[in-house]
Amino acid sequence: MSKDTPTILVVEDEAPIREMLQFSLSRAGFTVYEAADARTAQDMLNTNTPDLILLDWMLPGISGVDLAHKLRQVARTRELPIIMLTARGEEESKIRGLEAGADDYITKPFSTQELIARIRAVLRRTGGGTSSAILQAGDLSLDTVGHRVMIQDKPLELGPTEFRLLHFFMSHSDRVFSRSQLLDQVWGDNVYIEERTVDVHIRRLRKALEAHACEQYIQTVRGSGYRFSQQV
Ligand code: CA
Repeated sequence: MSKDTPTILVVEDEAPIREMLQFSLSRAGFTVYEAADARTAQDMLNTNTPDLILLDWMLPGISGVDLAHKLRQVARTRELPIIMLTARGEEESKIRGLEAGADDYITKPFSTQELIARIRAVLRRTGGGTSSAILQAGDLSLDTVGHRVMIQDKPLELGPTEFRLLHFFMSHSDRVFSRSQLLDQVWGDNVYIEERTVDVHIRRLRKALEAHACEQYIQTVRGSGYRFSQQV
């Protein structure tokens, strides 16, 4: 099963709220990762970049607003959409949250519908998620609806797995993914496939791209995995 649903990282120390968010956002079609504090969130962000972060203002240790600040200072997470969760009456914290770089905030207690509407609005505004039908990288374009890949207006024939792999890479460019992350994201959760399988499909994808001198987009990151990038 291909997973082109937007991914959301929920950073919240209160387990019941976290579980409620995991439940309702998953049901709304998002893929949800959870972190109970800022440090865990940072560790997760080192290996995987979600489409949006739902960030609680009051966290033990590093506060939500400090984490937002930090994320804005790093190139890789500078553009990452952030929605802050604040408690009722914290007018000042809302302003500080927005100043720290949050894209929006929502006050607890909130309705699930309102939260989902805000998430969709932020994703639309920031161009995240899966709203775009054509992904473009240099001469390479991928039509996510028509399932076609073109290089300089010439169609490129790809197997279904190579197509999903390229789709995933192009919608998450300039990020490194380990083989197991690629298995999770491209092959789905319920598969038992050796990590070497990833290498086989990467090789096929590169070979197809090679005919059009685009294979350098698929980069091997030694000891880590693979990355799709236009920068060599
Ligand atoms: Ca909290």
